[in-house]
Amino acid sequence: MNRENKRRSYEKGYYKTHACTESFTCKVCGRPVVSAGAGSGHRNHCPNCLSSLHVDNEPGDRESDCGGIMEPVAVWVRKNGEWAVIHRCRRCGALSSNRVAADDNPMKLMSIAMKPLCLPPFPLERLEEMTELMGGAGSLRR
Ligand SMILES: [Zn+2]
Ligand SMILES: [Zn+2]
Repeated sequence: MNRENKRRSYEKGYYKTHACTESFTCKVCGRPVVSAGAGSGHRNHCPNCLSSLHVDNEPGDRESDCGGIMEPVAVWVRKNGEWAVIHRCRRCGALSSNRVAADDNPMKLMSIAMKPLCLPPFPLERLEEMTELMGGAGSLRR
């Protein structure tokens, strides 16, 4: 361990002010993850399966000792049109929102975005019938 690494482990909030440039192996899909190509200094999730680890309370602070796997559960669009991923910790249920990186797997992002549409809480073939029931007034009629 060189001196720079040592400083990283002991200094609180190191990653808030320093880019996270180390590479790691994704605990979920086993893919080696390097920070190059992320399009930002912070690579906090795997670009292949988009999973992350619960290590932060605030983005970049590395102050959580949970260490659970953060699963990507949803995507949302920020005001500026930028996509962000909602991660949920499998162990403690914490939620966090993270910017997508330039090289994040686009198909995985799309599949997360499409999930609610593919698994609607009612049968899709009844959609027409339901629209009819609503009678264009937005309220259900009998
Ligand atoms: Zn992965
Ligand atoms: Zn957690």
